Amino acid sequence: MPALPIYMDHHATTPVDSRVVEAMLPYFSENFGNPASLTHEHGRRASNAVEESRFSIARFFGVQLNEVYFTAGATESNNIALNLLTPGDHLITSALEHKSIVVPAKRLEKHGVQVTLLTPDRDGFLDPDELKRALRPNTKLVAVEAANGEIGTLQPVAEIGAICRDRGVLFHSDVTQAAGKVPIDMTNVDLAAFSAHKLYGPKGVGGMIVRRGIRIEPVMLGGGQEKGARSGTVNVPGVVGMATAFRIRGEEMAAESEWLTQLRNELWDRVVDQVPEAFVNGPRERRLPGNLNVSFDRVESDSVMMAMRHFSLSSGSACSSGERSASPVLTAIGVPESLAYGSIRFGLGRSNTKEHIALLVEDLKRNVGRLREISAA
Ligand code: PMP
Repeated sequence: MPALPIYMDHHATTPVDSRVVEAMLPYFSENFGNPASLTHEHGRRASNAVEESRFSIARFFGVQLNEVYFTAGATESNNIALNLLTPGDHLITSALEHKSIVVPAKRLEKHGVQVTLLTPDRDGFLDPDELKRALRPNTKLVAVEAANGEIGTLQPVAEIGAICRDRGVLFHSDVTQAAGKVPIDMTNVDLAAFSAHKLYGPKGVGGMIVRRGIRIEPVMLGGGQEKGARSGTVNVPGVVGMATAFRIRGEEMAAESEWLTQLRNELWDRVVDQVPEAFVNGPRERRLPGNLNVSFDRVESDSVMMAMRHFSLSSGSACSSGERSASPVLTAIGVPESLAYGSIRFGLGRSNTKEHIALLVEDLKRNVGRLREISAA
C-alpha cells in the first residue's frame, strides 16, 4: 500500500525537488546578501547568483538575458502585463484565463479599456481566425495562456503570436501551467508569465519575459529593482531554486512528459470504461501530459472528493475553491451546469504510479456509485 493520501493535484502546486532545496540552502544564511548591495562581497555574491539564475531561465525559454524579470509569482507577472493597458485601449483575451488575468481585465474594463473575450470550442481551443476578426485599430494586447490548468488544453501560441506580430499588437502568454511540461514556441511571444511552484520549485517566486523594447508599467513602485519593472528586494533563495527547477525540467521534461501522458491516458480509459456516466472535459491530443478533467453525472464533485480521502484532488482551480459556482472554464466550453458541478481535476505528477491509478479507479467506482445510490434514495 502506498503512503496516504496520494497527491494528484499537481496543477495547484508541486513538491519542491530535493535538488532544488539543496541549491537554495546556502542562500538563506551563508550567502544572505542583498543583491542590490554591490559595494561589498556579500551583495555581489547574491547578485551573481541572481544573474546566473536569470541566465538559466533565459536559456530555458530561448530568450535574451535582459528579457527575464523576477517577480513574486505568475499572479504578479500577469498583473504587470495587463498594466500596459490604459483607457481607450482594446484587450483580447478569453474566459479560460487564470483569475490573475480575468480579474484585472474586469477592473480595466470599468476604467475604460475595451475587452473582447474569444470563444473556445468544446475542447477549449481558441480559433486564430476569430482572433483575426476581433483585432481593432486600438487593440494593444492579446492575452492567451499556453496551457489551461483545469482542462489541459494547449493553445496554438505560435500561430496566435504570429497574427499579433503581423498586426503590430503585443502578445502576452501566461505559460505558468505549460512551462517545464511541454515545449513552448516563444518566437512570437512578447510577454510571458511563469511561476516556480508549478515545476517542483518554491512558492512565492516567479517571473516574466518582456521582449526588448517593450516598456512595462510596474505594479510595485519603490527602489527600482529589476530595472524598475518590479521594485522590492529580489527573493534570492527563491530565484536560485526556480532556476534550478528550470534546469532540471530542461533535462527531464521530455521523458517525464511521455510517461505522464501514458499514465494519464491509462487513467482516462479506465475511468470512462469502469465508471458509468463519466465524461472527459478537454481534448485527447494537444493537452497537458498530467491533466485529466472528468465530469461524473448525478453526483457533486465536493461529495466525491470528501469521500475519496486517500486522494488529494481538486475541482476547478484551487485558487477559487471555496466559492460555490460552476467553473468559468467548464462553462465557457459549454459543459452543462449539472456536469460542471460533478467535475474533478486529476493532476498527475512525477510521484504518481500505475498502482495509484488502479487504486484511484477502484475508489472512484465505489464512491461515485455509492453517492449516486444515496442521492437516488
Ligand atoms: N496562471 C496560471 C495558469 C496558474 O495556474 C496559476 C496558479 N494557479 C497562476 C497564474 C498564479 O501563479 P502564482 O501562484 O505564482 O501566483
